Amino acid sequence: MCGIVGYVGKNKAIYSLIKGLKTLEYRGYDSAGVALIQNGEIISIKDKGRIDHLENILEYDKFTGNIGIAHTRWATHGIPSKENAHPHIDQNHHFAVVHNGILENYLELKDFLCKEGFSFSSQTDTEVVPVLMEYYYQKDKDVIKAFQHTLKDLRGSYGILIITPLLPDTILVAKNNSPLVIGKGCDGIYVASDVPAILQYTNYFYFLEDGQKAIIHDDVITFYDSKFHEISKQSKKIDWEMDAIDKNGYEDYMLKEIHEQPEAFKNTLNGIISAHEPIHFLEFSLDKKYLEQLKQIYIVACGTAMHAGLVGKYAIERLCRIPVIVEVASEFRYQDPILDEQTLCIFISQSGETADTIAALKLARERKAKTIAISNVFESSITREAKYTIYTHAGPEIAVASTKAYIAQVGIMVSLALYMKEVLEGVNDEIIALKRDIIEIPRLMEEVFKNEDMFKELAHRMSKETDLFYIGRGNDYHTAMEGSLKLKEISYIHSEAYPAGELKHGPIALIDKGTYVFGILTDAQVYEKTFSNLEEVKSRGANIILVTNQDIKGDNVITIPNIDPILSPILAIIPLQFIAYYIAKEKGLDVDKPRNLAKSVTVE
Ligand code: GLU
Repeated sequence: MCGIVGYVGKNKAIYSLIKGLKTLEYRGYDSAGVALIQNGEIISIKDKGRIDHLENILEYDKFTGNIGIAHTRWATHGIPSKENAHPHIDQNHHFAVVHNGILENYLELKDFLCKEGFSFSSQTDTEVVPVLMEYYYQKDKDVIKAFQHTLKDLRGSYGILIITPLLPDTILVAKNNSPLVIGKGCDGIYVASDVPAILQYTNYFYFLEDGQKAIIHDDVITFYDSKFHEISKQSKKIDWEMDAIDKNGYEDYMLKEIHEQPEAFKNTLNGIISAHEPIHFLEFSLDKKYLEQLKQIYIVACGTAMHAGLVGKYAIERLCRIPVIVEVASEFRYQDPILDEQTLCIFISQSGETADTIAALKLARERKAKTIAISNVFESSITREAKYTIYTHAGPEIAVASTKAYIAQVGIMVSLALYMKEVLEGVNDEIIALKRDIIEIPRLMEEVFKNEDMFKELAHRMSKETDLFYIGRGNDYHTAMEGSLKLKEISYIHSEAYPAGELKHGPIALIDKGTYVFGILTDAQVYEKTFSNLEEVKSRGANIILVTNQDIKGDNVITIPNIDPILSPILAIIPLQFIAYYIAKEKGLDVDKPRNLAKSVTVE
């Protein structure tokens, strides 16, 4: 959530700051602002609304400084407003601060500072930071000491950048449970909450770990550990091309990313799955003895990643007969889960920065469970917390609604299930057949893409609806859940997903003449059962749209290639992604940046 950008160097800071914020727009925000140091003082502008609006009110000629910080806010404390937008500046105009995260003890600190005679102009938690800096600065007249004292006082999550005319050409950087990366370009040093914001200036990045700080002075970066001892850090090379964050001729990132799914899937499983070699993960191995004594597996995630986890559960339970519990991270962490050394916990997060998932992972580690992180972002927080990491190589996903990262997560989950089966039983025909199917998937996805016009036409017919239903059994139910979520996220149409057999236990009361119901039918074993459930809603007037790999003829039938039910969600979700996308387009909505949502949910 929110975006942070900082720059110090030879160029005018304002251009790279605004450009960086625009690249981070996908993370979700409600206000934007910048602050620069210029002629020995802070110059700042901020407001609620989009970055385009900030650009309209900002006079580029006036913002000429070479050092600055910028922010897009996703309000957690205080409404979206000009006063609450960042940067926040203390009353003596000494410190400008941008912050991502939540300061849990801000009320206590604010109370203390008010008693000390300081005043506040916003309702945010963040504003305590510049005021504390000023409080400590007044004591010692030492900016670095003030920085150290201030950080000691803060409790909560933060990515923080501070600039001050008292130390020109310097950016103070601190991180705890919120992402921050630093990149050294040819003409300056850049800081951002995510790699894409500064990818055009460098491919080499320093990833700060929780508790670490950095002081950037001109072209020198000095790193510190949590106790403020100087440390050395190696930069890491990220090979993403700039192309990956361009729309490449597509109208929206989401449409581009749907089309990138074959590539994302292939890149993710490259080196893991091949027809004749045993499955292997670069990063780790699990031995037979360990798997045999395993009592259970937990898969913990949020939103779409949780749906990928459900597909993983289906695969692991069917192939390995090990019980799997899929839990939403925000529930897992407060439910005193039963964990021990005989529990394997898998955490899935596209960004690797999802606050609830990180907290759940920490809990699992404390309780001695073995942990695996699945993330799309190199060196993200969950990858550092977990014992093992498997990366999805979907490339940067910019649209808030996840598509290609989901496909890549499902690819990893199914491969993990197959891997465990191979370790437990050795190679057998079932494994070989599934591997062959996996290798075919990118081509089969392209087959599904050929019906894009039909998906568009169906979307046109459904765009005025206010309620839609998705039903299926087994893995088809998991696809129904993900399809329904996609629709909600970007079209704001109410929708529900149900296991097909559950309808008559309540929800069928909502079916009216003309209600659209998607039936997902890809598992031959339960196909007839789901079909009967669809007949039940049809006789109550519903319009049925089928997504199926069975030989069914009819007007509203979307036919997808036939594949093992373990893998069918990968193909069955594609029509539902397209339909959600085209419905949102019909309604004239901002598909890539849906209201109220953020790409990576870095607050609890
Ligand atoms: N908690 C801060 C606020 O509400 C920062 C929110 C953010 O991460 O954008 O202003």
